[in-house]
Amino acid sequence: MKYKILKTTSFLAFVIQVGTAFAQPIDGYWQQHVDYNMEVQIDVETYRYEGTQKLVYTNNSPDALSRVYFHLYFNAFQPGSEMDMRLQSITDPDSRMINADRTSRIASLSDTEIGFLHCESLTQDGQKVSFQEEGTVLVVDLAKAIGPGEKSTFDMDFKGQVPLQIRRSGRNSAEGVALSMSQWYPKLAEYDREGWHANPYIAREFHGVWGDFDVKLTLDKNFTVGGSGYLQNPQEIGHGYEAPGTRVKKAKGKTLTWHFKAPKVHDFMWAADPDYVHDTLQVVNGPMLHFLYKNNEKIVDNWKKLQPKTAELMQFFNSNIGAYPYDQYSVIQGGDGGMEYAMSTLITGNRKFGSLVGVTAHEMAHSWFQHILATNEAKHEWMDEGFTTFISSLAMNQVMNQGKPNPFEDTYNGYYNLVASGQEQPQTTHSDRYASNFAYGISAYNKGSVFLSQLGYIIGQNELMETLRQYYRDFKFKHPVPNDIKRTAEKVSGMELDWYLTDWTQTTNTIDYGIKNVTTSDGKTKITLERIGLMPMPIDVLVVYKDGTQETFYAPLQMMRGEKENPYPQLERTVLPDWPWAFSEYVFEIDTPMENVEGILIDPSQLMADVNAQNNFYPTQTP
Ligand SMILES: [Zn+2]
Repeated sequence: MKYKILKTTSFLAFVIQVGTAFAQPIDGYWQQHVDYNMEVQIDVETYRYEGTQKLVYTNNSPDALSRVYFHLYFNAFQPGSEMDMRLQSITDPDSRMINADRTSRIASLSDTEIGFLHCESLTQDGQKVSFQEEGTVLVVDLAKAIGPGEKSTFDMDFKGQVPLQIRRSGRNSAEGVALSMSQWYPKLAEYDREGWHANPYIAREFHGVWGDFDVKLTLDKNFTVGGSGYLQNPQEIGHGYEAPGTRVKKAKGKTLTWHFKAPKVHDFMWAADPDYVHDTLQVVNGPMLHFLYKNNEKIVDNWKKLQPKTAELMQFFNSNIGAYPYDQYSVIQGGDGGMEYAMSTLITGNRKFGSLVGVTAHEMAHSWFQHILATNEAKHEWMDEGFTTFISSLAMNQVMNQGKPNPFEDTYNGYYNLVASGQEQPQTTHSDRYASNFAYGISAYNKGSVFLSQLGYIIGQNELMETLRQYYRDFKFKHPVPNDIKRTAEKVSGMELDWYLTDWTQTTNTIDYGIKNVTTSDGKTKITLERIGLMPMPIDVLVVYKDGTQETFYAPLQMMRGEKENPYPQLERTVLPDWPWAFSEYVFEIDTPMENVEGILIDPSQLMADVNAQNNFYPTQTP
């Protein structure tokens, strides 16, 4: 016998509702500000580059700073680096970073293949400062402390070498892209409400200082460049950036200087290749999309078909999270999978069409959950990877007409696998400190996505989608932390949700509710539910009668101090008394004898991540 399970297609019914609330100011919030001015010469033969950086740093913190730190990410791609050592010791190394015999690809790089980034000279407001390179971090003792509200200007000369492509950035990727230039410049570490975040580059990254970038790149004029900023001199450059139908002044000499500006971003990526095709597509009421991909007949068709889908994805995210605030977004072939950057993404391009759209959906969703809502990825990885996974699952279901009744099914199954493996660590774990890449990946992507889809089960789908929009309005261009999404959900729903944030993200407590027994007496059916797992939850119960009718019962969790709306308005719902968590059993009655009951089911939506679904059915059956 199979129960009719109520489907969760209702998600799509809740999308595209325009909120009317305004952004709320956050008491006491501050963040640092940077203005980068860089001029860089790149030798495409030796993959060496050198540049100057003028960095105006504004200290908006209440603290005087006597030190600052810069990330020198390319130093990770050297034998003996922390990234190399971690690669050699982790039980499940990233397959892209190891050779066929499982040895580290970084360990086998020669001197001309390694990456490096070195500071050659540095002054603060014209005064020399002392600095020391510690792997991927430059430690700078300031000549003079920067007081609260003060600015300092740093002038740096730097030299770099682009590593053979190992992870994310690098030269000569497997698909033949010459230059994937992410994490390529000396990048000031962020100092925020939690203090300094001078994380060494071990596996993961991304927490940057908001600011404005002005970047001039000089390189071989045959290369087409794409990336984070708006090109300021398109009529000198051409390469598909010139105004349609206009002619470009042919530059003398072997190089071109590309001048980009990227306002209000916390990172700057670029990529370049002599064989890029460059297409553009204007999104209605949205940004100009740029597509740069290799002129390779095997992929060109898919990259053409990707373009209108990218516009649809952009509109989906605009409607469901909030308007994309920049005038440009670039999808660029490069890197080694997919990675999000400011106003752009690097993705591998040699993929089946569905995978190409899927990776674009995911990386573009990161424009919201990382590049506009800039959570610290090292500390709160579930907030950007998980939320991105959540919204891109919904977007793909719509844009690719997947027709999945539950677009999150695979996401939940991944989480259940992690729990069953015994390898789960709390989501508060630093993203470099998980015991395995497997545990990191599921915790960040799957469990992070379930945080939201399950929140919809708790507060209601309308309230969930409104929570996302309000979160965007309140925290865009800021560094939100876990409490911020929780408080937003509390304000939108009127419920108390501290228990949800703490148990789900700070522990490995699991959810297991069950139907303990069903008895009958005096013409009534008595249902006893039990809480087996430590994590609290409100409970929806569906009862199916032999005459084909159905109704639901709702036991709110007492500590959430509220009730969601009926998620199944087509069915009658009975709101039962609150269930206080410490009571492991809970009894309620149905006003009909047991012989009329076909079956009983806990959480027909399957959005509550119950690790043992076996006991959610009466009579017992395999779900
Ligand atoms: Zn991601």
